[in-house]
Amino acid sequence: MGRRFCLYEIGVCERGHGHEIIVMSFVETLDNLALKKSELVKRFEHLIAPKSDREFEAMAQTSRALTLQNFGRTMRLFAPLYLSNECINNCRYCGFSRDNPILRVTLNVDDVIAEAQHLARQGFRQILLVAGEHPKFAGRDYLAECVRALAPDFSSISIEVGPMETEDYVPILEAGAEGLVVYQETYNRGIYAEMHTAGPKRDFNFRLDCAERAYAAGFISSAFFHD
Ligand code: SF4
Repeated sequence: MGRRFCLYEIGVCERGHGHEIIVMSFVETLDNLALKKSELVKRFEHLIAPKSDREFEAMAQTSRALTLQNFGRTMRLFAPLYLSNECINNCRYCGFSRDNPILRVTLNVDDVIAEAQHLARQGFRQILLVAGEHPKFAGRDYLAECVRALAPDFSSISIEVGPMETEDYVPILEAGAEGLVVYQETYNRGIYAEMHTAGPKRDFNFRLDCAERAYAAGFISSAFFHD
């Protein structure tokens, strides 16, 4: 959870046109970046290289045209709703770490509905359900129940929870979720190991490959972030 910089986003049009799906293993791609640069990686490298003001302006115009082409003149505002601060990991930068002696709370479904209705009264129709990583408190069935309860009132429901197996995402999708957010935090394996001192989050590859599992499960939108 936390920290805000988007590295990439995979969007799949519901009508299934106008998008190129690139099949790749993220772990394999990451580990071979320095050895073998694909055309996609070279293009990305060019995009993030230092630019003049004129080049930046040209990129901004291209970006604007693509945004209009794909999404029109829309702006999507979403509100996060925190379901639980229970967590089985220790991350050196996060107050939810399991060894921190804080009050732990997991909302029951009635509380989730009440909180969501408050957001709906403020005008929000897109919601992000956020939870620490704890399969016992914020696992598949609980998340599916929350999503199902909110689906009638929200046009878009996303989740930001611990990475799961593909089959565990399915009931959450069937309940009405469409988006998944996962923070990779860093793509540097050494720093990652240093920051994540205990718990399943120490498994860098499982987290990195979550994008593939999300796509396989059927999420319409998946966003993966790092600092
Ligand atoms: S895994 Fe747990 S401790 Fe680590 S950032 Fe997420 S909520 Fe915080």
